[in-house]
Amino acid sequence: MNTNRQWTLAKRPFGMVGPDNFEYRETPIPTPGDGEVLVRNLYLSFDPTQRGWMEDRESYMPPVQLDEPMRAGSVGQVAESNHPDFNTGELVQTLGNWQDFVVVKPAQGLPGLTKLPPGVDPELMLSVLGTTGLTAYWGLLDLGNPQSGETVLVSGAAGATGSVAGQIARIKGCRVVGIAGGPDKCAWLTDEARFDGAIDYKSEDVDARIGELCPNRVDVFFDNVGGGILEAALNHINMRARVVLCGGISSYNATEPVPGPANLMNLVINRARMEGFIIIDYFDRMAQAANDLMGWIQSGELIYQNDIQEGFENIPQTLTRLFTGQNRGKQLLKIADPS
Ligand code: NDP
Repeated sequence: MNTNRQWTLAKRPFGMVGPDNFEYRETPIPTPGDGEVLVRNLYLSFDPTQRGWMEDRESYMPPVQLDEPMRAGSVGQVAESNHPDFNTGELVQTLGNWQDFVVVKPAQGLPGLTKLPPGVDPELMLSVLGTTGLTAYWGLLDLGNPQSGETVLVSGAAGATGSVAGQIARIKGCRVVGIAGGPDKCAWLTDEARFDGAIDYKSEDVDARIGELCPNRVDVFFDNVGGGILEAALNHINMRARVVLCGGISSYNATEPVPGPANLMNLVINRARMEGFIIIDYFDRMAQAANDLMGWIQSGELIYQNDIQEGFENIPQTLTRLFTGQNRGKQLLKIADPS
């Protein structure tokens, strides 16, 4: 391979993101400078937050600029190294871009360059041991603080983050109810991931079903969706409940400001807490989470699904899958196998 294929941000989205927002280009393969590493991307991670990075607005990271390759988490292989800690051929994780080759300067903070631990494949590194698994772990345990016997409700429950959060709650001895779109995802939650109950928000009355499936009310709500689902959950919170705001995917492609929940007074009445977080604040505690997550996978207590698309040409449409609910678990795309 002697060219570097890219998908750049061509147009900022208004409404649903789609292939029209990106442009295909070919450029020369970049050359790493002193202390830098050239990485060939093998797997890309697709994350709802990428939709936010495409907006020209202040956030926890700067926006992707027009004509720049789209930013994405990735696992790749070191193609050339001018850094003493990295050798050609090693598998590494970084915050890269939608392109074949990325130059990284390993340093503290983002983008960073992490070697894959022995026995961990690229798919696992980008899913349960990646951002979504760590988000589930720290969001649930640090902010949600679930106690054995409590009831934990999770939205976006069949997705990469929600499915791990719900299973950790089950492992901690909680009653777990998930909210997801469609009968197949709900069946997977109860039959495979061993949730105690599942609500299909596309065909059921979410408010009524939370009441039925959470007879002792909700102690922890791990919310990935926001909007009407957050409002329905707030109707059922217990005294001293913890509402963990992980994401609000129902509004990421909205074209107008989205109204907030009308029942925030329920937080007051129930002396409850609602708190947001961003996983990058927990990166220095990754090892502890990865250790526990790996242990639960090995013991069979934690299962996961990875949805792996293939082909560089399919990168833009793969992002849209997250917002149409087509993904089954963690959305990845394989560009190439390691050489
Ligand atoms: P998922 O694997 O959960 O995929 C996204 C899922 O969201 C879809 O499969 C779909 O599931 C659901 N969805 C899409 N559109 C809507 C909608 N309009 N209403 C309701 N549900 C919808 O993705 P992730 O696990 O990567 O992300 C889940 C959430 O976690 C997102 O909100 C994301 O922003 C957040 N997040 C937050 C982080 C943080 O640091 N705070 C870090 C990582 C993720 P269904 O078919 O069930 O509708």
